[in-house]
Amino acid sequence: MNNRWIIHVDMDAFYASIEEREDPSLKGKPLVVAKDPRKTGGRGVVSTANYIARRYGVHSAMSSSEALKLCPKAIFRFSGFQLYRAVSQQIHNIFHHYTDTIESYALDEAYLDVTNNKLGMTDPVQIGREIQQKIKQVTRLTCSIGISYNKFLAKEASDYTKPAGFTIVSVEDAPAFLAQLPIEKFRGVGKKTVPKMKELGINDGSDLLKLSELDLMKHFGKFGYSLYRRARGIDERPVEASRVRKSIGRERTFGPVLDSEVVVNTQLRLIAAKVIKDVAKQHKHGKTLVLKVRYQDFQTVTKRATFLDYIENNVDNYLEITSELLTNLPPVEAGVRLLGITLTGLDDLNYENLALNLF
Ligand SMILES: [Mg+2]
Repeated sequence: MNNRWIIHVDMDAFYASIEEREDPSLKGKPLVVAKDPRKTGGRGVVSTANYIARRYGVHSAMSSSEALKLCPKAIFRFSGFQLYRAVSQQIHNIFHHYTDTIESYALDEAYLDVTNNKLGMTDPVQIGREIQQKIKQVTRLTCSIGISYNKFLAKEASDYTKPAGFTIVSVEDAPAFLAQLPIEKFRGVGKKTVPKMKELGINDGSDLLKLSELDLMKHFGKFGYSLYRRARGIDERPVEASRVRKSIGRERTFGPVLDSEVVVNTQLRLIAAKVIKDVAKQHKHGKTLVLKVRYQDFQTVTKRATFLDYIENNVDNYLEITSELLTNLPPVEAGVRLLGITLTGLDDLNYENLALNLF
């Protein structure tokens, strides 16, 4: 049943393309969007890289010094999030011409539900074409567009051909499209899951169909439940107009309970690393860190530390703060069944305060 039309718009190598637009001499050269590690004492993280640098194995979220090692000829550029955000605003203005049901991811990616669009257009393909053309006209950048009847397929479609791709997956096309889709392309199948999939003989969407829902859940838990549906082109998630996030956090439950400070700190380190990744991905930073602890007797306590300056987004720093907070809590020897770390008091990371954090 097709009662929705969803467009997924994904800007092609967004930050890198902006840098190339600003300085056309970069075209054809491997470009890494990050501050030059030779000028930062090796610090810094890759925001993204153009397609040439990616061929050397450079990818977002790796350290910029690692990127330099992989691709010594790489040019490092980072004009700052103020510029990237301004361009993102331009593309969002174009989206709003058609619909306000826009769910944005980062600055360069969004789902649009155009089923009931503002212009009363009945052909989603025409809407997609117009959006792609207007983005090109206004920003001089390309995007890839996927159109389908749910979010999962729209996203897979935009990913199908890049850059400047345009892929439509209709209800009729979906079974064939999904059957050929390599398993690693299914959202949520990460580097760790792929080997397990291959072991089970699952190489693509058609292999997924051979496993029962129960089997998939047995092997992959809750994710198996959604995989079973995704393989059949089912995804009922609505496009939710994005709201401003006020906090970013992660928590983990433990059984058996943790009962020593060493073990608690090891777990806090793992949780902190995840929060830090989320925070970096969303280009945020915050001034308040919240530690949540649930004890064996289900007593749950939160403690927060607020700073005048933005908290530097690294594990050691988080750990220092949580250790301090822990000293004001009941002893962990009482048994800890849940730990959580949340960053609040969030702001967008922009060029000036990023520079402050780096140096
Ligand atoms: Mg993109």
